[in-house]
Amino acid sequence: MISSAGFLETPLYLNLTACPQCENSFVVEKLKERIEKARAKASLDVLAKIVLVEKKGDLVFEDISYDRRRFFQALKTMTSAQVAAFLDENTAQTNTPYSAKKLPLKRELLNKLIKRMPSGNGVIGILENYAFTIKAGSSCTNCFACVGMCPTGALKIKKDTEGIGLLFNSSLCTGCALCRDFCRMEAVTVAKGFRGTDYFEYEICNPCSSQSHEQASRGAGAVIEEMVCRGRRE
Ligand code: SF4
Ligand code: SF4
Repeated sequence: MISSAGFLETPLYLNLTACPQCENSFVVEKLKERIEKARAKASLDVLAKIVLVEKKGDLVFEDISYDRRRFFQALKTMTSAQVAAFLDENTAQTNTPYSAKKLPLKRELLNKLIKRMPSGNGVIGILENYAFTIKAGSSCTNCFACVGMCPTGALKIKKDTEGIGLLFNSSLCTGCALCRDFCRMEAVTVAKGFRGTDYFEYEICNPCSSQSHEQASRGAGAVIEEMVCRGRRE
């Protein structure tokens, strides 16, 4: 809810004047902490978009009573409209994964937000807290099982005259760690934060990028062989 408020055109007023009498009043402090955290993490302008009204005298809007369900429904409708408009406006900038790979909507939205933000601390904060970096260590055999497993297309095969290797695009990575869990060589590390050069581009992520096509196919062969053997054992 807090992050979504960053998309609102007009401030969202929350009437908290009755909260001190409620047994759940501790939620107010938690809410303030969350807002502060969102601001510090991503420099989103949420403080200006969410106005917490704690004294009756500060109420400057019509006193309509919403129950919790209706309140969140109204908020969802408002923010969804803003987000949809935002997506439409920026469709041309979509960073689409290849083939049938699919990027979750939330990640796509975050990427659009990053593209729209001026470079600086805000973008750095988002990349530090919400992006991931995948590295494949020296035990990587270029078998590319991780490429097949990655649901979003963040991993891709590099194949050119220099040889073959593994490419990674941080803007398409959700940090699910399937690649790490599936790598039989235990070569993959998943780290929080972007550590590359260009967040939106594919970059080499393993040291064996100059491996020949024959060496690479031996790696893939070994994986298939092990899968077949495992299947026989089970
Ligand atoms: S060895 Fe591991 S990191 Fe290297 S390509 Fe195969 S699955 Fe990916
Ligand atoms: S953690 Fe690995 S499998 Fe998951 S999205 Fe990132 S690169 Fe793909």
